[in-house]
Amino acid sequence: MTEKKFVYSFAEGDGKNKKLLGGKGANLCEMTQIGLNVPPGFVVSTEACLSYLDSPQQQLPAGLMEEIRTHMRALEESTGKGFGDAHNPLLVSVRSGSAMSMPGMMDTILNLGLNRQTLEGLVRQSGDQRFAYDAYRRFIQLFGKVALGIADAKFDEPFEAVKQREGVRADLGLTTEHLREISEIFLGVVQEETGRPFPEDVYEQLEIATKAVFGSWMGRRAVDYRREFHITPEMANGTAVNVVTMVFGNMGDDSATGVGFTRNPATGENQMFGEYLVNAQGEDVVAGIRTPKPVQAMEEEMPDLFRKLLELRNKLEAHYREVQDFEYTIEKGTLYCLQTRNGKMNATAMVRTSVEMEGEGLISRHQALLRIQPELLEQLLHPLLDPNHEATPIDQGLPASPGAASGEAVFDADRAQLMGQAGEKVILVREETKPEDIHGFFAAQGVLTSRGGKTSHAAVVARGMGKPCVAGAEGIQVNVQSRTARIGGKLLHEGDVITIDGGNGNVYLGEIPTVAPDFSTHLHTLLGWADEIARLKVMTNVDTPEAAQRALEYGAMGIGLCRTERMFNAQERLPLVVEMILASTPEEREAALGRLLPIQQADFEGLFKVMAPRPVTIRLLDPPIHEFLPTERQLEHELGHLRQLRSTVEGVEDLMGAMQFLQTACGGSAELPLPFNSNGVPLIDEAIAKKELMLHKVRELFEVNPMLGHRGVRLGITYPEIYSMQIRAALQAAVACQREGFEVHPEIMVPQVCTSQELLRITPMVEAIQQELEEEHGIKLQFKFGTMIEVVRACMRAGKLAEVAEFFSFGTNDLSQATYSFSREDAENKFLPFYNENGILQDNPFEVLDVNGVGQLMKIAVEWGRKSRPDLKVGICGEQGGHPSSIRFCHQIGLNYVSCSPPRVPIARLAAAQAVLLEAESTPS
Ligand code: ADP
Ligand code: MG
Ligand code: MG
Repeated sequence: MTEKKFVYSFAEGDGKNKKLLGGKGANLCEMTQIGLNVPPGFVVSTEACLSYLDSPQQQLPAGLMEEIRTHMRALEESTGKGFGDAHNPLLVSVRSGSAMSMPGMMDTILNLGLNRQTLEGLVRQSGDQRFAYDAYRRFIQLFGKVALGIADAKFDEPFEAVKQREGVRADLGLTTEHLREISEIFLGVVQEETGRPFPEDVYEQLEIATKAVFGSWMGRRAVDYRREFHITPEMANGTAVNVVTMVFGNMGDDSATGVGFTRNPATGENQMFGEYLVNAQGEDVVAGIRTPKPVQAMEEEMPDLFRKLLELRNKLEAHYREVQDFEYTIEKGTLYCLQTRNGKMNATAMVRTSVEMEGEGLISRHQALLRIQPELLEQLLHPLLDPNHEATPIDQGLPASPGAASGEAVFDADRAQLMGQAGEKVILVREETKPEDIHGFFAAQGVLTSRGGKTSHAAVVARGMGKPCVAGAEGIQVNVQSRTARIGGKLLHEGDVITIDGGNGNVYLGEIPTVAPDFSTHLHTLLGWADEIARLKVMTNVDTPEAAQRALEYGAMGIGLCRTERMFNAQERLPLVVEMILASTPEEREAALGRLLPIQQADFEGLFKVMAPRPVTIRLLDPPIHEFLPTERQLEHELGHLRQLRSTVEGVEDLMGAMQFLQTACGGSAELPLPFNSNGVPLIDEAIAKKELMLHKVRELFEVNPMLGHRGVRLGITYPEIYSMQIRAALQAAVACQREGFEVHPEIMVPQVCTSQELLRITPMVEAIQQELEEEHGIKLQFKFGTMIEVVRACMRAGKLAEVAEFFSFGTNDLSQATYSFSREDAENKFLPFYNENGILQDNPFEVLDVNGVGQLMKIAVEWGRKSRPDLKVGICGEQGGHPSSIRFCHQIGLNYVSCSPPRVPIARLAAAQAVLLEAESTPS
């Protein structure tokens, strides 16, 4: 049997094979091979690690130590030193490193190869006794702690004791004698703790260290980390061991050690960034024992070396074509590079470096677009909590709408409005919200609720307004009367300041500063490139001109979904809507709708003008109409109060009568305010009658399952006056805009359609109004008529629907619910987390499009739809339309556009371009 190769010298290892050599090892090989000054060394592969971990008694694979010895001999040859040689010793570092960096892996051991004999050699080599003893005691401690698992305190305590006894504060104050004494104490600690003397044999040291590195792969922190971040064996499997010849940054004032980024990772600025320490060993920079200097100071302090460092930086970037995070050491004027990896940067820096590196010719436009995770852009659009804050959350809910906000807690919408108008910053805290709370949303910085998921009223409205929202933070109890709430076990009073983070669902007590978002010219440039490449258009879901304006700034190419019911919810309109619902005859209803018409028309005009000449998709009324009425319980409650009030008012009247009779108390006959004067009782009776009518209507409209009930096109067909008003409002708005010289492209969209027969009931309405308006104004109207596809049957009948509809828009929120037969709120609140944690479902299908199920329905619908209408325009307007992997799928099945909330527009633009660039990689199954 030929033995497997486990060990690769830096000169031979494949720098691209991180899985085999780990990230650190692969890059050490790569750097060596492109001629950078890396101390000689070798990598023991992750395969050796896996073999070790798989063996029953944790044994190194056969022949491994032999192979390591061979490579050590090569090191000896190239350095001219001997491993274990008492005169001219070779020392090495032993470093872990897997394909992905993770906490919990073994820390680096420096100076391995020291023992009583080689120590003397090191003294001779360096001519510096203190240096040698310092290296020795560091090695014993690191090896003891890291490889032998001895607690830090066992070394720290005696060390501190010596310092105290000698009255020395900084380690630098210790003399050779002190360090010699400390080394002896440390050797004693090892004997004490392990029951064996410190290993003197240098190969034994190396073997123990190697095994310790391998073992750390299964350490608890590493295992937990891999589970938490879904790091699969395909991504990283086992850790490699890197053995590197020691170089010393602590050999005097021409020696130093440092860490750096080739560009500024916070701003992206094209300037080397980092810190260094003169006369120090690597770990000192990170350990914070001494305060390092900014790398720019080196230009003055060591100008020659600074130039060499700049050269290193330029070579790294020129080779990796990516910002590098690197570590280096200078030994007596010679610069060594000890590590490099791609730099982790925030979104601002990623965007700026993409644009600038493209400009410098370092990367192509495609690479500039591909190197940024679209989701990262979200950081750039919402205020964020100051990343340096240290507050602990008092409660956590679902991250329902991104961004962070602080304000005084208020517990009902009216108070929120009052305080908001008074200029206070408020957070609206409710158990749940309803359409009549909308004025509170406008006044609030953010919304916190305890019930409902990501499609709860609060979540959807907040997202539409671009305000942060945390929903479903369980255990919040609001007491509106006493203006208090219990949140996460704390009692809050109105006015107590809280902070919510809609990005992760955290709720904090007190104010945490936020940092402003930054939509830079670099981002505009980058997304401009994206638009040139993308095939999908990116539209937005908005209902107001203000939101439309914001979406435009983010680069929206039209409105893919305007939910007209949002317009009904505005405070001054709700009474009209209620009147329309309470109407007992079509005539009464038409009268109420007649008053809504100009308002709705004005809404559309506003949207059309902002968006001109881009398309605006108007969805006709969708929710069941009882959503606009108060709940049965609330009405009963109010009626109870009104009846009580009525008897109180009667009582006051009696009292006044009695007082007049007595003729004592009041001289004049001052008028009483309503409702305590003679008009009071009839007024209250009128109110009672109205509320009773509402209650009656609410009971009449009651549905067991409203989401599957009388809504959408079903409502539009049975109450044709409503859709007729909306269609008229849209087309009249188009006429008005056209006459003012705006180019408008309305698209009228019918929700909840399951059969073309439904559409065929709506088309005559459209045609009649169109004809009337065109004749009246002598113009031609340009618009499209289409349907939502959000019912499974609609997918199956797509061919037939496309005979009537000029466009499809997949409503994947409802379509996913229908395909799974899950109601989203119940799923997210009850069992989806369990399903996700236990791998029954990979993702939340309401966030990430379920490509295998829902996606297949979409694919069929697109195919069949285009068979009957080849130029059928198809888009998606569900929430998934803003999710990068879903966007990629939409691209693959040939959609024309995705539509998402304004803050997701930039993400979608980038994802749409990446979909094209990644096309070659895979095709949909
Ligand atoms: P980490 O993964 O924690 O960054 P490293 O293996 O990079 O661990 O080691 C930590 C520090 O130890 C490095 O920054 C470097 O300064 C120092 N170091 C590692 N190997 C050597 C070596 N061969 N010579 C000198 N210093 C070294
Ligand atoms: Mg480490
Ligand atoms: Mg490092």
